[in-house]
Amino acid sequence: MTRFIFITGGVVSSLGKGLSSAALGALLQARGFKVRLRKLDPYINVDPGTMSPYQHGEVYVTDDGAETDLDLGHYERFTGISSRRSDSVTTGRIYSDVIAKERRGDYLGATIQVIPHVTDAIKDWIKGDITDEDFILCEIGGTVGDIESLPFLEAIRQFGNEVGRDQAMFVHLTLVPWIPAAGELKTKPTQHSVKELQSVGIQPDILLCRCDREVPAESRRKIAQFCNVRPSAVIQALDVDTIYAVPGAYHAEGYDDEVLRHFGLTAPAPDLSRWDALVSRIRQPEGEVTIAIVGKYISLLDAYKSLAEALRHGGISNHARVNLKWIDSEVFEREDAVQHLEGVHGILVPGGFGERGSEGKIQAVKFARERKIPYFGICFGMQMAVIEAARNLAGVTKAGSTEFGPCDEPVVGLMTEWVRGNVLEKRAKDGDLGGTMRLGAYECHLAKGSLVSHIYGDKLLITERHRHRYEVNYNYKERLEQVGLKFSGMSPDGVLPEIVEIPGHPWFVGVQFHPELKSRLFEPHPLFVSFIEAAVRQSRLV
Ligand code: GLN
Repeated sequence: MTRFIFITGGVVSSLGKGLSSAALGALLQARGFKVRLRKLDPYINVDPGTMSPYQHGEVYVTDDGAETDLDLGHYERFTGISSRRSDSVTTGRIYSDVIAKERRGDYLGATIQVIPHVTDAIKDWIKGDITDEDFILCEIGGTVGDIESLPFLEAIRQFGNEVGRDQAMFVHLTLVPWIPAAGELKTKPTQHSVKELQSVGIQPDILLCRCDREVPAESRRKIAQFCNVRPSAVIQALDVDTIYAVPGAYHAEGYDDEVLRHFGLTAPAPDLSRWDALVSRIRQPEGEVTIAIVGKYISLLDAYKSLAEALRHGGISNHARVNLKWIDSEVFEREDAVQHLEGVHGILVPGGFGERGSEGKIQAVKFARERKIPYFGICFGMQMAVIEAARNLAGVTKAGSTEFGPCDEPVVGLMTEWVRGNVLEKRAKDGDLGGTMRLGAYECHLAKGSLVSHIYGDKLLITERHRHRYEVNYNYKERLEQVGLKFSGMSPDGVLPEIVEIPGHPWFVGVQFHPELKSRLFEPHPLFVSFIEAAVRQSRLV
């Protein structure tokens, strides 16, 4: 039997609901259960693909090419289970499906209403595409009380009622703030938030209380009494120094035991030894490196969530703490790059869109190439590396990307068709912005004897996730290879450059895909492990 755990959030946003869901998933997994995590987002966008990274943070891409919420990244990093398109849904997606059905006449003339048509569509989605999972954890985005989340709350209320308490439970994440003037932790926001939830008919079974200090037993009793839950179901979620300590901390508070008690299940205690080992490695690094990330969306670090985690994973493998130095690429267009990059042990140019800041990124590549500092270019960062090599090594002075407008030397250009398996996919130049990119997992052939093939354990065929519109133009391949930029990864048909590297440089790799999306705590991505290893070597030189 598959059981459903619905996780809502209250009081304020940014309490870490995604992380908290991921950590519970990992704990249940450590107790031998098969889990799956899903996210229901209340916004009206069909998917977050067109949302500004400044507002929404990173767009996480699944193997099957869905553009999803960044919380799916937490789920994958914590559980190691690859998410699917069916693990992420938004109000916009639900409504567009319901409206499409209505237009087709599927509702046989009925008046379409939130209840039952929209709520039915949500419930169908919750139960859809399940195989043999023991637990489905469904996180509801937003904060209880938001107008947008009402249809989702109504749907999960109905769902809980239909399947019964032994198959569904509700967890509510709240905040118990410390008020310095009173010298007290306050339970009132939690009480209000639970009331809000109760007003839509949902009685939480567990309250997970975020706090920055111990919640005294007395306060927990009070919360239990006012919120109508067992005292043992008030779980404190104390701040921790690393997100990877969360599963252990939750277990120590009895969270997973309480979940199993609700369902009347017993299971062996979780084996958290591999978590503990990694957490102590994180807490006691043997050295440290500084990586400069030269990007555009640095005012909201969530925009590079997976990247920051992948770099940390690389650090953990190398027993090194990784300090991230976020640099807005536009500064290089005004000032000399040297003062910002001097002394860093690695330079990374991440994914990005649009012309603004691109010349600064090209400056950063040049600095890394000439000064022999490890360089990692991801997606846009690879495209900028190729433009830099074209201009400064191959003498193609007008090299550019058609992403920025018409260009005499389109070293990076728009691909309007490409091959995926046996299917020729076509995309119109002037199509919609949403869902028109090369998205999801594609295969890539690695050149024998190349640095990247070595990094991937001598593999010659890899699969990585993509999210981009433009491609490096392979018509420039020969000229660039002659000056030392090796095309060491190509699409299976040999048309799309996937990886470039500079042999002889300490570590210079550009990849068209997003390796950060596949790095997990227990399976750190080999490119990040190798990049940080090179940075550690660099740190011994300077
Ligand atoms: N803007 C570039 C493109 O669309 C790169 C995208 C990215 O870095 N994700 O191809």
